[in-house]
Parts: sequence; C-alpha cells; structure tokens
Amino acid sequence: PAIGELIRRPDPTFSFEFMPPKSREGEQLLWQTIRELETLRPDFVSITYGAGGSTRDTTVAVTERVATETTLLPMAHLTAVGHSVAELRNVIGRLAGAGIRNVLAVRGDPPGDPNAEWVRHPEGVLYAEDLVRLLRESGDFSVGVAAFPYKHPRSADIESDTLNFIRKCRAGADFAITQMFFEADEYLRLRDRVAAAGCDTPIVPGVMPVLRMATIARAAQLSGAPFPPGLLSRFERIADDADGVRRLGIDLCSEMCQRLIDEGVPGIHFITMNRSTATREVWQHLAANVAA
Ligand code: FAD
Repeated sequence: PAIGELIRRPDPTFSFEFMPPKSREGEQLLWQTIRELETLRPDFVSITYGAGGSTRDTTVAVTERVATETTLLPMAHLTAVGHSVAELRNVIGRLAGAGIRNVLAVRGDPPGDPNAEWVRHPEGVLYAEDLVRLLRESGDFSVGVAAFPYKHPRSADIESDTLNFIRKCRAGADFAITQMFFEADEYLRLRDRVAAAGCDTPIVPGVMPVLRMATIARAAQLSGAPFPPGLLSRFERIADDADGVRRLGIDLCSEMCQRLIDEGVPGIHFITMNRSTATREVWQHLAANVAA
C-alpha cells in the first residue's frame, strides 16, 4: 500500500525509522531490532540514506530485505547528495524493481560538516522538490518529504521555510515527516502555519526520546534548534543519574506523543537509532492509555 493513503486513514499510523548498518555487529543489531519491533505491527518502517550518500547500496539492500523477508512495509529514504540524475534514476529503478513504492525524498547534507555549503552535483538536482518530481515521473511512488518544526537551519526565516515546504508538496509529495522536536507546541505551530498557507499535506511528527544527556546536544545539532530550556533544566538536575535521565526521557516522550494523538496527528514516526527497547516502552505507555 501507499503510505500516503495509510496516513489519510482515520487512525494514526505508527512507524519506525532505522539506519543502514555500518558493520557486521551493526547489521546483527539492526535485524534483531527489526524482528523485535515487527511484533508491534507498525504501519510502516523507514530506512535512512547515509549522510553524503555514503550508504546508497546498503539502504537499497536493507529496504529490499525488509520487503522480501518480513511482514513490514518499508520506505526507503533517498537523498540528492553527490548523485547525478542518472545515478538517482538508477537507485529509483532498483527500488521499483524490488517492489518498493514508498520513498522519502530529502536533499541530504554535505558529507563531513553538515553546515558546509551545499554543492549540487554538476549533473544532479538542487532541492528536495526536484527529487520529488524525479520520483513522480519515474513511476507509481508515494513520496514523502521532510518538515522542520523550528524551520530548516538553512532557511532565512519561518515564512520562506513554509513556502519552500509547500513547493515540495505541490511538486507531488503525499505526506511529510518532521525532524525530531521535544515540545508538542513546536509541531502544532508548524501544522498551523502550513494549513494557514493553504496546504493540507499531512505532516507526521518524528519523535525520539532522550535516553542520555549526550542525546540532548546531538538533538540540538540535528534539529537546528536549542533544546527547550524548561526541559533541559529538568534533565540537568538529574544529570548524574543515568536511569533517572532515561526514565524522564521516556516519560516526556510518551506524554508528548499522547498530546499529539489527542491533537489528531496523522501518525507518529519513531526514530529508533536501531534499538527497540526505548521505542517499545513509549509504545507501551501509549497502548496502555488507549486501552484505559
Ligand atoms: P530541501 O527541501 O531541499 O530544503 C533545503 C533548504 O533549501 C531549506 O532551507 C529550504 O527552505 C530551501 N529551499 C527549498 N526549496 C527552495 C527553493 N526552490 N528556492 C530557495 N530555497 C529553497 N538526511 C540524510 O542524509 N539521509 C536521510 O535518510 C535523511 N532522512 C531524513 C528524514 C527526515 C524525516 C528529516 C526531517 C530529515 C532527514 N534527513 C536525512 C536530513 C535532511 O537531508 C537535511 O535536513 C537536509 O539539510 C534538508 O533536506 P530537505 O529535504 O528538507 O531539503
């Protein structure tokens, strides 16, 4: 099925994001995690595309294997970094050949320093919007794009960020998934400004619980926004208590997901970092609330 359609059904979808493994051990961990999370029967899973286009082959291979060896519906991420249009068409052809119909089209960041100037491959494309068009003209794909609650770090302001997001939707994106964020209001503001600009593309929140203090700095780097100060001080107060930090992270993430569901989000996309325990714990909190 097309993820764009699943996301438009009345009940929220639940999905998990994995990264292509970089080593033999990493591969074992990934497959153990996939098998453990498979039992939760998520609506779909996604496999990222390595920074700088580094894991092109592994992304396609893992996505193919999920499609053929599990009951899960996989979506491949695809980036434009370092690829000519011919190479992109080749990857898209391989995905189509493996029966993969769902792709998340993101521009990607430059290899090395993600804040370095973005240089287009001489025969490549410039924006995610172009990748969306390429996928649309290459076959029957349901195409997702990225959305940024705090605006993309490269965007000059919220207004241009919103307009550029809507361009990707108009180019043929069926749905969007957000960068991680830690306060429901950040998502709700994004949803409201996109709707106010006349765009009704469903936006699925992407979430990741804080499990250790190091996650906080990493999250700020990835999301391009400071970690919310009110939450930061709650973590800092218990920074020496690793179990306490983890518990607080899981509780806050569960509460945020519950609020998002109450606000009618089309789904929740969990960034798993290829581990199953934390995702399961948040999931169980939510399932317990649904049952209550
Ligand atoms: P774009 O939509 O192209 O936007 C990039 C910048 O250009 C923005 O500032 C935008 O406002 C601006 N812009 C867009 N169109 C125009 C225009 N026509 N004129 C002027 N300015 C314009 N990275 C990976 O390497 N691999 C992954 O698998 C991956 N998965 C991701 C999944 C999700 C859910 C998210 C949120 C991010 C993911 N990323 C991934 C990171 C992503 O590649 C980077 O954040 C990248 O910098 C932005 O990608 P984009 O698709 O939003 O770019």
